Amino acid sequence: MGLEIHQQLACSTKLFCSCPPVKSEVLPCSFERRLRPAQSETGGVDPAAVFEFAKGRSNRYFWSPESSCLVEADEEPPHPLSSEGLGSALLVARVLGSILVDEVHVMRKIVIDGSNTGGFQRTAVVGLGGAFDVDGARVEVQSVTLEEDAARILGEDSNSRHFGLDRLGVALVEVALAPVKGDPELVGKVALHLGRILRSTGRVARGLGTIRQDLNVSLAGGKVIEVKGVQKLNLLPRVVEYERSRQSALLKVAGKLRERGVKKVACTTTDVTRTASESGSDVLRGKVAEGGKVVAISARGLKGLLGWEPSPGMRLGKEVAEVARANSLGGVIHSDEFGRQGIGREEETLLRKLCKAGEGDGIVLLAGPPDQVDACVPRVANRLREAVAGVPAETRAATDTGETRYMRPRPGSQRMYPETDIPNISVTGQMLADLAKAVPQNWEARVARLAEAYSLSRDMGLKLFDSELDGEFESLAGELKLEPSVVASVLVDLPARLAREGVPQAALELQVLAETLRSVARGDIAKEAIPDVLKAVGSSGRTVHDAIRSLGLERANEQKIRTVIATALKEHAELVSEKGDAAFAPLMGEAMKELRGRADGAMVAAILREELLRAKDNTSRQS
Ligand SMILES: [Zn+2]
Repeated sequence: MGLEIHQQLACSTKLFCSCPPVKSEVLPCSFERRLRPAQSETGGVDPAAVFEFAKGRSNRYFWSPESSCLVEADEEPPHPLSSEGLGSALLVARVLGSILVDEVHVMRKIVIDGSNTGGFQRTAVVGLGGAFDVDGARVEVQSVTLEEDAARILGEDSNSRHFGLDRLGVALVEVALAPVKGDPELVGKVALHLGRILRSTGRVARGLGTIRQDLNVSLAGGKVIEVKGVQKLNLLPRVVEYERSRQSALLKVAGKLRERGVKKVACTTTDVTRTASESGSDVLRGKVAEGGKVVAISARGLKGLLGWEPSPGMRLGKEVAEVARANSLGGVIHSDEFGRQGIGREEETLLRKLCKAGEGDGIVLLAGPPDQVDACVPRVANRLREAVAGVPAETRAATDTGETRYMRPRPGSQRMYPETDIPNISVTGQMLADLAKAVPQNWEARVARLAEAYSLSRDMGLKLFDSELDGEFESLAGELKLEPSVVASVLVDLPARLAREGVPQAALELQVLAETLRSVARGDIAKEAIPDVLKAVGSSGRTVHDAIRSLGLERANEQKIRTVIATALKEHAELVSEKGDAAFAPLMGEAMKELRGRADGAMVAAILREELLRAKDNTSRQS
């Protein structure tokens, strides 16, 4: 398992222009572009680029002058590399123990999925090597790279993909780790640890969407699969588990082919549109009726292996269908499912004859608009041929549930060429000296200090650090005369609990939490009232102050407590005379019904004890 983490840096400008790195809610302007693959410096063409180009779609870019200029539109050369971004990336490399480069060379990496207007992403290696330990295991760093972020995908229609330019050009650091061998859980731990190291520099952007993980997974005997865009840390182990199951199934299919003595899955392609017009399959007849074309690909030795499920839900037939889908077709029909698709014995015999398939061969049918079928046939045939190798190298996308879907072939080595608009930058002795001064305390030491200084558990210290609220916590804990543990739990535990109960996000923003804590510190409300106040802020949109008043939660003074207790004693006079001291618990319950959230329980208890004692004295005096 190999991880690649992309973390946005906290900078005042983008990497190659002076636009601020902000997310624009409104993108009023737009333009359209079509990208095509070009040769690399060594004369080759990137297969991933050819793949995207073959889809024949254009890209529409939406932008706002507040967050983009002519540089993002690729209408103006890039400005000099941001020294702020470079400094931060170098610091990350330094903290990871990488060897820093002497000279930074900006390169262009071909990216033709439309997410960059120029058809390439600017990228510069700043450090190589390095390592850190996770649970006693050494994790090696391969490279630390400063990059510009890609445009934000907004959606698509039938002709074009839509992108937002606000994110394009934002500085990010990519950390590529060497593969580690082990349980799927390990990769989650490694990502968490690396995230903490990055945050400890204080130079990375905060919040949702500022970090993205790509994951490489391979099994012994298979090629490397790259899974793009795993959004949440807790999905990483699930993605690895899914890939393990998928890849081992494909290796088993390859094993079966070896047993059958099939060294090469030879494929032949035959147009069977005429036969398909009278097919037992509704799908095929429908496609032909729409003016579509049907092509049969016979694949040597694959009979029974397309529908075989060596692990749950994993079939070669599904893999082939995903390739077809990534090439704009709805899917495929293969010979192991002919019966289910309405294709009978007789029709199958005819198809086998037409495409000269032997009894042990598999057949895959592709149906759809003629140009799409023609574009798709060589890719599907290629995927079938790769069945002998087991796991072909692919780029896949992670789903929200931790599965993966085929995206495109893996990019080759032909995807880099020099960015001649940006001069090389020497990493000077002065820069190195500045870096040495900027190296932060490591995160473990920081958590330990937080826990010790404020008498918190290590777990709470870690939660504060992970929630990126440790700075706010320290200033609030210093400002307010409250137990630091109360401040910490209101900042990191309570919002999660209330969010689960459906309390709107607005009530859980930092300034609302801080204002509520201040009300407790001033003595306006008891700390027990905090959840009710936040719920009221969330449901009514009131300010903290108004919520407290509307709930009648202003703290009860001693006078009020005494009144409530006197009433309770009067109402339950019989209970008091019968049970004496044992009446404490029920009476306490009675009083707290009215005072909960408004008075300190200990104070209510003390006053109640006092009053019970007085009542006893009175009774004994009377008797
Ligand atoms: Zn700009």
